[in-house]
Amino acid sequence: MNSTESFTMRTLKLGLIYSSLIFNVFIVYKYLDGSHLVDEKWSKSAAGEAEAVAAVSCSGHGRAYLDGIIGGDGTPVCECNACFTGLDCFESVPECVLDADSGNPIYLEPFWMKHAASTAIVVSGWHRMGYEYDDGSLISQELRSEIFKLHDIVKNVNTTDRYIIFGAGSTQLLGAAVHSLSLKSSTPTKVVASVPYYPVYKSQTELLDSTKYKFTGDASIQNTSDSSTSFIEFVTSPNNPDGQLKKAVLKGSNKIHDLAYYWPHYSPIVSPVDEDIAIFTLSKLTGHAGSRFGWALIKDKDLYQRMVKYMDLNTYGVSRETQLRALKLLKHVVRGGGQELFEFGYGTMKHRWELLSKTLQASKRFSVQHLSSQYCTFLDKHRTPSPAFAWIKCEQEEDEECSKVVLGEAKVIGRAGSLFGAGNDYVRVSLADSQDHFNILLNHIEKLVSQEKIGSGTRFHFYNTANQTWHANYQFMGLDQDIQCSFDGSSFAHHQGAATIAAT
Ligand code: PMP
Repeated sequence: MNSTESFTMRTLKLGLIYSSLIFNVFIVYKYLDGSHLVDEKWSKSAAGEAEAVAAVSCSGHGRAYLDGIIGGDGTPVCECNACFTGLDCFESVPECVLDADSGNPIYLEPFWMKHAASTAIVVSGWHRMGYEYDDGSLISQELRSEIFKLHDIVKNVNTTDRYIIFGAGSTQLLGAAVHSLSLKSSTPTKVVASVPYYPVYKSQTELLDSTKYKFTGDASIQNTSDSSTSFIEFVTSPNNPDGQLKKAVLKGSNKIHDLAYYWPHYSPIVSPVDEDIAIFTLSKLTGHAGSRFGWALIKDKDLYQRMVKYMDLNTYGVSRETQLRALKLLKHVVRGGGQELFEFGYGTMKHRWELLSKTLQASKRFSVQHLSSQYCTFLDKHRTPSPAFAWIKCEQEEDEECSKVVLGEAKVIGRAGSLFGAGNDYVRVSLADSQDHFNILLNHIEKLVSQEKIGSGTRFHFYNTANQTWHANYQFMGLDQDIQCSFDGSSFAHHQGAATIAAT
């Protein structure tokens, strides 16, 4: 062997020894690390299950869910949209009563179905099992930063020097804010809101039955002359139920700004809100009401600390799975500068409002809230209204309980005005549910309004034409109307909508 050959052999041997050493170190590392225990394809079957359930069509009138009831064939059963039924939700329910009481934001479902790939999450069996995050806190810093980014894009609230608290929906934060504000006062605090107000302010305050605070109703009728009385006023803008941009009524009181609907889907963004307490919810922003996630932006450090203590003792933070999901959704929204979600949300709600308000304009019996077009700094244009709810008023004295009139004559369940501190001549119906739900709502309201055209007190002139068909002529809205009737020998009958004209 010459010297060149022996050099090559030595290099080869050394190479072999080193690679064997590296391989052994890698094996030992993998073993100690425990990652050999993890099947690297563990997410495949979960993904397969999710895809399979998403592929159940439910005739386009429902959805199947992984955690839904499992049918006899082992597949999840379809959960049908309102007024649809059957195993595949194909049949429509005859004479269906539509429940439009809840503010379920299902209108956003098609948006998330379109973005299924970029917003799906996989939650492993060992995902964040501990109580706290690594920094000892109960909030994901990544999620916190996405929320701030989104507000800075939309410019709906001032985020400078704000503390943030997460809650199980904004519902939990409303209670935390009232409790924490009331701790500073030596006398019981009066909790108020201007009418019509979101019913939970009253019911939650009354449920807790605290000696520190009481709900005392309409902000505008409070006696403020006694300076020892302290107030907490809920300011909801845009307001639930009527969509109006509200301002505080009481001067100098503590205020809780509930900004659940201050997003471009429902409201013009007029200027960034710059208040001590601003509360938001994922429910109305992305539509994920079921994830139960809300956040509060707080200016004052002491108040923030009192609220943190309340949350610690109440639930010890928001579920890590919820925070993970919210993070994924908000990342998607922020990445696109918010445009796509807000344009979809605004476009849908605006169209629904146009259809419903136009229908109700033809009515003398019912009216609906007036909302004006306003300049929106986010969309950089004037925008027409797009509220989440219709706040309907029964204009006639005999229709004392509007929710009963709407239920009895239109088969629509709404929420009675008295629950909002207003009169029962008002009823709230939701416009934010699925497209199926809205189509049925509009159809029912159209029928209700069309009945007025031939309502009581209308004078008819009956006549017989040459071909022996009977006609009735009447005046409606100053115009001559003519309809064909049937005559059974003793009475005339004609059906239009649900109303019957009978002349004997
Ligand atoms: N505030 C207002 C004005 C609301 O309409 C709602 C939901 N309907 C909430 C708060 C509570 O929202 P969540 O608890 O789902 O966050």
